[in-house]
Amino acid sequence: MNKQDSSRGDLSQTSQRLEWEKSQMPYTIPNNSCVGCDNCRPQCPTGAIRIEDNEYWIDPGLCNNCEGYYSEPQCVIACPTNSPIPWQSKKGRCKVEPRDASSLDLFSNGKNNPFASAIAIWEACNVLAQRTSLHWETDEEGYISYSRQINQGRGAIAFHIQDPFKVNDLATDLAAVEGLDIRAACIHLIFAAYATALDQPWEQEFAIDERQIEKYLGMEKRKDLSKAAKLALMKNLVQQACSLIICIDWPQQGRINGFSITDSRLWHLVDIQHHFQEDNLGCKYLIGLTFKVKAGLWAQYFLNKQAC
Ligand code: SF4
Ligand code: SF4
Repeated sequence: MNKQDSSRGDLSQTSQRLEWEKSQMPYTIPNNSCVGCDNCRPQCPTGAIRIEDNEYWIDPGLCNNCEGYYSEPQCVIACPTNSPIPWQSKKGRCKVEPRDASSLDLFSNGKNNPFASAIAIWEACNVLAQRTSLHWETDEEGYISYSRQINQGRGAIAFHIQDPFKVNDLATDLAAVEGLDIRAACIHLIFAAYATALDQPWEQEFAIDERQIEKYLGMEKRKDLSKAAKLALMKNLVQQACSLIICIDWPQQGRINGFSITDSRLWHLVDIQHHFQEDNLGCKYLIGLTFKVKAGLWAQYFLNKQAC
């Protein structure tokens, strides 16, 4: 074998070894951020996620980076707190590369942004901002609900709370209201501004990513939060804004016909895209989130330019 053939062989062995090393790169769960929700365990294709003494951990002998099953680590995608991180994680090793914007920014003129005013928007804002200061009641089915009359009792608007990833089970406990973060009201208003720009927002989804949310909420100045903590916070705030369920009983007013909406989402969280970036060791780091959101049925009545 001549020298050139032998160096070609070395190169192919090296790249095979690198591929093998990448697939051996396990994740770990530092328990300071894990909330024990168990979202991750059923998603792991290799059964690597374990619980011991009520603490979650990942068996490094079983975790293989989801290699051969999925292109992205499923535990990170399922986790509300972005807890699983690469075992080898070291600060500063992963340089975040620029990526295209998900949508046009609000405040494109640097000052203000068009925004529709509607009772559904303002009352939802009230719920997310006032939280337990409002008068919540338990309805006849046992779910907590906040409602107020419209047009001197001829109609009403009511809210329930439901985790955006659950199809059933409205909240029955006031703890769901206590857990709301006032910044979810800002996210809701940001969504309302995006929806206002669409022709048929009850049918068209819009996208917003973590860079935009970070800017709108002034979070880029927060030096006390790590990137992972910021992403987890934004995911959580978006999920809270999307947890409101609305019922509207609208009375006929003048030429405007009455209508009813029952148990409809205020905002549908259609999808969360997780953006990963790989370092030279093959560790995949979560570097961004894009949220796909669509307004609920209420928008057909309140943000319908044709019907106005
Ligand atoms: S990266 Fe994949 S294989 Fe490893 S623990 Fe997470 S889900 Fe399981
Ligand atoms: S999904 Fe995240 S917070 Fe929930 S148990 Fe798994 S690591 Fe912990």
